[in-house]
Order: sequence, then structure tokens, then C-alpha cells
Amino acid sequence: MATVAQPVPRPAVKQTQCFIDGQWVDAASGKTFATIHPATEEVIAEVAEGDAEDIDRAVKAARRAFDSGPWRTMDARDRGKLVHRLADLIEEEIDYLAALETLDNGKPISDSRGADLPLVVDCLRYYAGWCDKIQGDTIPIRGDYFCYTLREPVGVVGQIIPWNFPALMAAWKWGPALAAGCTIVMKPAEQTPLTCLRMAQLAAEVGFPPGVINVVPGYGPTAGAALVRHPGVDKIAFTGEGQTAKTIQREAVETFKRVTFELGGKSPNIVLADADLDAAVDGAHFALYFNQGQCCVAGSRLYLADAIHDEFVDRLAAKNAERRLGDPFDPATEQGPQVDAAQFDKVMRYVGYGKEEGAECVTGGGRFGEKGYFVEPTLFTGVRDDMRIAREEIFGPVMSVLKFSDVDEVAARANDTPYGLAAAVWTRDVSKAHRLAAQLRAGTVWVNCYDNFDAAAPFGGYKQSGVGREKGAAGLDAYLETKTVTVGLG
Ligand code: ADP
Repeated sequence: MATVAQPVPRPAVKQTQCFIDGQWVDAASGKTFATIHPATEEVIAEVAEGDAEDIDRAVKAARRAFDSGPWRTMDARDRGKLVHRLADLIEEEIDYLAALETLDNGKPISDSRGADLPLVVDCLRYYAGWCDKIQGDTIPIRGDYFCYTLREPVGVVGQIIPWNFPALMAAWKWGPALAAGCTIVMKPAEQTPLTCLRMAQLAAEVGFPPGVINVVPGYGPTAGAALVRHPGVDKIAFTGEGQTAKTIQREAVETFKRVTFELGGKSPNIVLADADLDAAVDGAHFALYFNQGQCCVAGSRLYLADAIHDEFVDRLAAKNAERRLGDPFDPATEQGPQVDAAQFDKVMRYVGYGKEEGAECVTGGGRFGEKGYFVEPTLFTGVRDDMRIAREEIFGPVMSVLKFSDVDEVAARANDTPYGLAAAVWTRDVSKAHRLAAQLRAGTVWVNCYDNFDAAAPFGGYKQSGVGREKGAAGLDAYLETKTVTVGLG
């Protein structure tokens, strides 16, 4: 008889304060806020509510660590060793961190243990390898000179992250910043501060000097805004909503901070008639429903060729009917709750718009269960390009299916959006695959796959989906300045 895996026990919460200058401290105001478990709506812990004063202390600590600490003068290879050790320690307690992520975010343990945390470890190891490989050029300028460039850390970086992949977003931001030799003040999302705080403790244990990594939990308009305005911060790296990024962009211009933004999307997922349908059905399902649809790259506009439309929809509907929703600590659970009541309400509003605008709701459309923020896997067909469910980011398990008959036509329709984060194409025709990959205006195009997030591959948005790139060598560049040194030899 097959053994049924037992639910994973809920982890104890260990860190709830601000981490500033190597110390765990309460918020200066003494205030705290509650973080909840989205599957039961129970309070997990009270967390320090940092605001401008705490941010100021953290930025000053990061400034000291950058300007005069041992961090900048340390051998690059030793910096790499510290980042490697952090990855090792995270790996040692990967089960605990995955459970903590599931507790705070509500994502299924099979995802946090199988995807999020392994990707955290991999990303840190990838960037650990970069530490001693950052180098400039020698440049043959005119005259009797020797000219070369140095690649130097941009300085103190403020990093503001969202709640959909809390630990992974921290790793994507810490990895390149640490490799470059920057110091960090991170503000995690108010919904999900716990794994980031734990990672800060592990960083302290492996021996990062005080002030190199600081974490201040709190709200966006208070702690986040104070970080963006602080004159001691050289760069802001932000992942979140476009509207928030516009505010940040306006504020950051006062001090000419460098900014990188990773924002929303409405990614087209295009299935041609010649595609491997088994792979495409699984891929389309995963592309949208993974992580409760709370992915900036979610394949939320599914363009199906006329010839395969009906069969494809039937198969997607059957998969949705089988999808296992429930306790995220149960290893068999495939879909957990949305992260909070605000997100749940937003998703349900969009289900309403879909119905009002005349799309057909083939599966789902309702709440699942009595407690927690669960939404049934929802599938709309008969969607037109001008409907709100085809144009606006829903950030939930709601898929919009659109039909097409011609490949050039579908490329134009796929591009008719202010977003440009990701796109995918499913086909066995290699020419069509490459032609579409070139035509699609998106920072990432997946062909016959989806949601591949290797740390070495650059990621970011065209158009209103972002500014700059994360991951890969391009992600490192965003944390470096170039200094030109010219030596007169005469
Ligand atoms: P989401 O809808 O995914 O929560 P947000 O853009 O609201 O997207 O939030 C992403 C991150 O930005 C969170 O850490 C949040 O606290 C922070 N944030 C929100 N508003 C601001 C702001 N005005 N300035 C700086 N950070 C902010």
C-alpha cells in the first residue's frame, strides 16, 4: 500500500524584529504589525513595524559598512566564500525555511520546498561565483596615456520586494548586490517578512560584517518610502506594482538614485496547431495556476489556434477539476490560498468583470472552502482582446482563453499591451518558433516551456513591465558603476 505523506508540521517563528547593524532590535516606535497564515487567517506573529527612523538607522549602518567597514576591502574571493556559506546554511535548513514560507505566504509546501528555496540556494551560489570575476577593460585611447576601467559597487542599495516569492526575491536582490560589494537595506513585503528575517540571521551566523545586510520590515508608504527618499541610498531595486514604481521613480529622481524595476505583466502564451498538445496543456496550466496565479509572468492570456481550441479547453477544464486545493502544509496540495483578503477581493472582482463582459466561465469562479483566501481555478473562454480580463493583471488563478487563426495576427495581438515581461510559444515548427520569439516584445520568451528561472539567465521587462534586468551578468551590472582611470605617461 502506498504511504500517504503526512502534513508538514508548522514551524516556530524565530525572528520578528528589525535587523540593523548586525543586531536584532525593536522598531524605534515600539510598534508591531501582525502577519497572518492565509489558509486559516490566523495571526502567526507580531513583527516590528519599521518606519523612517528605523530606515535611517539601517541606512547609516549600511553606509558605514560600505564606506569604512571591512566589506569593501576584503578579498573578492573571501566575499564569494561568505555568499557560498550563506547558500550552504540556507540549504542546511531548507525544510524549515520552506515551511516558514508556506506559513507566511500560504503557498503549497511542495512548491516552497521543491521550487522557491532550491532556487534561492542556486541563485546565491551563482552570484557567489561572480565575486572574483568582476573586471574592467584596458582602452587604447589616443595619445600617451594608459586608460582602464574599474567596475565598482554602486554603494548602499535599498531593496523593496513583494510577497509572491518572498525568499526568492530576497535572493535575487542580495545575490548580485553582495557579489558587487554593495551593502543592503531590504524592506520585505508587509504580508511576508518572515523568511527574509530568517535569512538575515543566517547571514549573521556565517559572518557577514555588521551593516552589510540590514532588514527593516514595515509598510510601503512609511518604511518603503523612507528608503526611497533617503539621501544615503545610492540605488533602489524594486519588484512590485507599476503604480508603486511610478511613485518610487518620482521620489528617487530627487537624489538621482539608480533604479531597477521588475513590474507586472499580462503574458501571452501562444499555442500553435502543430504543438505537442500534452506538453502544451500541462505547460499552459502550470503557466497560469502555479503559485495561485500570483506570478508577474503568469501566462494569463492563452492564445489557442482555432484548430485545437475546443480539445485544448476541454483538457484544461479537466485538469482544473482535478487540481487539489487545501492545506498548504499537505504535500499533496497543489494550490493554496491567495496571500490576503485584499488579493482575494481583487481576484473575485475580476471574475465578476469577466462574466459582465460576456466571457464564458468554464471552470471555477468562486471561493473554495469557508476559511482562508482560496479561489477555485478559473477558466474563461470566449475572451476578446479588449476585455478587462485580457488587458489587466489579475494576479490570481484566472485564465483568459483567446482564439487565433494566423501567426502574424497573433503576434500583433500578443504585443498590443502596455506590458512586456514574458511570452511563450508552443510549436514543433522551429522557424515559426524563432520568428515569433523575435516578434514578441517581451523580456523573456519561452518556447515549449514556461517559468524556467535559471539564475544565469537575465530577466526583466520591456515597456511598462520594468527597467533593467535581474539575474545573470546583466543583473550584476545593475549593481556596478564604471570608473574610467586615465594615466598620463608623458
Ligand atoms: P503588491 O500589490 O504586490 O503588494 P506593491 O507595489 O504594493 O505590490 O508592493 C510591493 C512592495 O513595495 C512591498 O514591499 C510594499 O510594502 C512596497 N511599497 C508599497 N508602496 C510603496 C511606496 N510608496 N514606496 C516604497 N515602497 C512601497
